[in-house]
Amino acid sequence: MTDVLPQLVDYHCHLDLYPQCELLFEECTEQNISVLAVTTTPRAWPRNKELAQSSSSIRVALGLHPQIAAQRAVELQLFEQYLGETHFVGEVGLDAGPRFYRSFDTQLKVFEQILKLCSEAGGKILSVHSVRAASHVLRLIRQHVDKSRVAVVLHWFTGNKTEAKRAVDLGCYFSINQRMLDSPSTRLVVSSLPSDRILTETDGPFVEIHGRSVRPSDIELTLRNLAEIRGTTSEDIRSVIAANALALEKHAVFT
Ligand code: MN
Repeated sequence: MTDVLPQLVDYHCHLDLYPQCELLFEECTEQNISVLAVTTTPRAWPRNKELAQSSSSIRVALGLHPQIAAQRAVELQLFEQYLGETHFVGEVGLDAGPRFYRSFDTQLKVFEQILKLCSEAGGKILSVHSVRAASHVLRLIRQHVDKSRVAVVLHWFTGNKTEAKRAVDLGCYFSINQRMLDSPSTRLVVSSLPSDRILTETDGPFVEIHGRSVRPSDIELTLRNLAEIRGTTSEDIRSVIAANALALEKHAVFT
């Protein structure tokens, strides 16, 4: 990690789930796009680590996705084993949407355990999923996270304004994607976030744009939309977000 500001920041992308992902790892590195490459299972860690090895702009996060936490709870052991190899953790969190509500109790146990392990270790940055579970996620962060040791980035946050305010008070960052800006209520929440807490993300390849999977370079469009919502220019938002990514990592990892 150097102090050179990235061109674009994609703080939540599943790079390893794209076809021919090796090329995308190369493309992001060449274009100086700072990517947090999140993963969905601890088993994916070694391969992702290898893919990002020679990249100056991609960091890989160790994950255990809430939507598969019930089937993969047994991989917590593997999570613990790999945790010392990285400062970055994600995708982790909770999902109380209709398809995943049944596993919510297991998700709570897994996420709580992950927060405890990260807090014990310190120097971690987490990318956290909170679909229909913002209040539970914030409660667990308040209980288990010491913000001087662990930084939380709320990915695709769709909580209300009160929950957003609570998250800001807990020290959380927010990574904002294109799809979030399609929702009028979320646009309103996004417009109220403090400038020093916002980041951008794609959540690719799960989000579509122009009839294809979104790519990290599409963050340009999100910058334009964010600029419009927040009444500034894309260039201003670009430098604010690049500086935020740098500040976040300095604070959480290098101090
Ligand atoms: Mn994701």
